[in-house]
Amino acid sequence: MRERFKDRTAFITGGSRGIGKGIARHFAENGAKVTVIDVNEEALQELEAEFRDEGFEVFCQKADVTQYKEVENAVKETHERFGSVDILINNAGVIRDNMLYKMTDEDWDTVMDVHLKGSFHAARAVQSYMVEQKYGRIVNISSTSALGNRGQANYATAKAGLQGFTKTLAIELGKYGVTANAVAPGFIETDMTKATAARIGITFDELVQASVAQIPVGRSGKPEDIAHTAAFFADEASSFVNGQVIYVAGGPRT
Ligand code: NDP
Repeated sequence: MRERFKDRTAFITGGSRGIGKGIARHFAENGAKVTVIDVNEEALQELEAEFRDEGFEVFCQKADVTQYKEVENAVKETHERFGSVDILINNAGVIRDNMLYKMTDEDWDTVMDVHLKGSFHAARAVQSYMVEQKYGRIVNISSTSALGNRGQANYATAKAGLQGFTKTLAIELGKYGVTANAVAPGFIETDMTKATAARIGITFDELVQASVAQIPVGRSGKPEDIAHTAAFFADEASSFVNGQVIYVAGGPRT
């Protein structure tokens, strides 16, 4: 199993914690060299030390996905260090939830910039390397909120947009051996969902209980659930799986 991603390099955005960290760990445990970029410098340093202790090949770089040059430099450095950039996981995310009548331009723009422009930046930065080597796997992290969610007009729009972006990349890049797919998680226990509980004024346990009551398999999701699906898309053997979205939410939501 450790050989699954041997000689592959995975580039993960927003990967210092939560789902991104779970994905980075999964790839590293399965033999990949991993680059993690994030704006959270402290969490990045902790991850780098933790992964190095475990003998993983890791490169962590503070980079904001909304800033193209920062992403491009991190991709270039990854290629110089590891010799290839094979897998991109567009995971960096923020929420600025509010009902429409209270949502500000800033709430809207911030969410669009991180999720949509950020994914565009990273995909654009890696594509020349992937096209050149005639191999690549792009996995975008969407959300069940793409189907619509109260208080998330900005986030739902961005996550639905990411699915259109995914399908377009699949069409444009498929002939170069580069696939693009999306994972759409449901409720996953991370700092992001903890922040949601705090914002709506309930404890995290209460939010977990309320969410689990709606989930057919009767439990909340963990970062590993998403990592497992991202790894399926990123597998070399998944070359005929292109432009697809898998909802990883413990069962249908609609
Ligand atoms: P977290 O908030 O735990 O982690 C997101 C990470 O992205 C943070 O480290 C954050 O840094 C970083 N980040 C934010 N903005 C940028 C930026 N501009 N450039 C680089 N890094 C950035 O979230 P999750 O792990 O829960 O979510 C990961 C992804 O999964 C997101 O795209 C999210 O929308 C999606 N998702 C999550 C679900 C859930 O239930 N948790 C459900 C469906 C989808 P910092 O905190 O310092 O800003």
